[in-house]
Amino acid sequence: MENDSKEKTFEEKTFEQSKKQYMRINTLLLVIHIFLSIPYILLSPDHMAIVNVFSILFYIIGYMFIKKSLNAIIIYTYLILLEILIHDVFCVLIFGWQCGFQLWLISLVATYIKDYITPGISQKVRNIISAVMILLGFLTFTALYLITKYVNLPVEDHPSESVTSFFMIMNSFITFLGIGAFTRIYTTQMEYRYSELHQQADFDQLTELGNRYYMNDVLTEKEKDSNSDSGYSVAMVDIDHFKMVNDNYGHHSGDIVLRDIADILSRNLPENIKPGRWGGEEFLLVADKDIAFNEFIEILENLRKIISSHEFILENNKKINCTISIGVAKYRSGLSIEEMIKVADNNLYKAKNTGRNQLISE
Ligand code: GH3
Ligand code: MG
Ligand code: MG
Repeated sequence: MENDSKEKTFEEKTFEQSKKQYMRINTLLLVIHIFLSIPYILLSPDHMAIVNVFSILFYIIGYMFIKKSLNAIIIYTYLILLEILIHDVFCVLIFGWQCGFQLWLISLVATYIKDYITPGISQKVRNIISAVMILLGFLTFTALYLITKYVNLPVEDHPSESVTSFFMIMNSFITFLGIGAFTRIYTTQMEYRYSELHQQADFDQLTELGNRYYMNDVLTEKEKDSNSDSGYSVAMVDIDHFKMVNDNYGHHSGDIVLRDIADILSRNLPENIKPGRWGGEEFLLVADKDIAFNEFIEILENLRKIISSHEFILENNKKINCTISIGVAKYRSGLSIEEMIKVADNNLYKAKNTGRNQLISE
């Protein structure tokens, strides 16, 4: 069961996320309509109470839509906008302009900026749809104003002055709540998408460690933080004879070893040493300036020993041992990131050429 969430596609995750949010929106709108029944019923004649029964039924049926699919949610969103619009037009025509039901149309603008369309549609078309909806909202608003002002309608339940004031305050509140809630929901959605993309752009899928881009950011940050008194350190870690693991046991087994080594690194390093996947079977470790160089070497030596004594369990329960070689570099004033990496690489090269499974820091 635990793996389930990992195997979900981006599309499925977006659906899950949208489903949760739309459940909340639907419940909010349903509750609002149930509460609206009270003033509608208390007034007589109660034309709006009858219109409201249809609105309540609409939101009850809505729950079934939301559970279906992302496309169903997109269609349902338009139906919600339509429901609000129709309900609102009835309210203004029956109760009159003074009750402020037309304000709802303003809070709907907050929903027009949202892309309800499937990703295949271009930004240009989305902009046109938003513009058309904003224009329609404005035209409906203006038409309602003119109709209530100049046309004698056959059905009008103009409430008393106190009820009119009550409606005005209630509708102002709903409008503020609507704009606030919609804006918040969209921001949450954007934040969620951003963090997903961020995760994909900065982290390596196989090992779940930071990738080269991410590590470059870490290096830049540590370099800025370094001075002639104290500075960061780096270690380049490379798996020994890794090609043989692939050749002898298959690429998938190679992947298992990579993942296990990444796991060992993550589990055995303190907060202030950041591991990342620098390339194929090379890892870069960046130590904060507050870690003494000797301490860093000690931690790395310990890691090397842990890995060399670790039993890697491959496909078909085959067990093997692997070792790593490490080249280290310590910051000196004026040393660029590229030069630091070069020193570490040279030391790694020496470690490889003089027997492997060792650390070189000179
Ligand atoms: P040395 O001890 O000198 O480092 O030898 P080596 O065999 O480890 O180094 P070499 O550079 O010859 O081979 C590295 C191999 O790593 C070759 C490449 O196919 C493999 N490799 C790189 N990335 C991955 C990966 O993501 N998965 C797997 N399974 N293998 C990978
Ligand atoms: Mg290697
Ligand atoms: Mg290599």
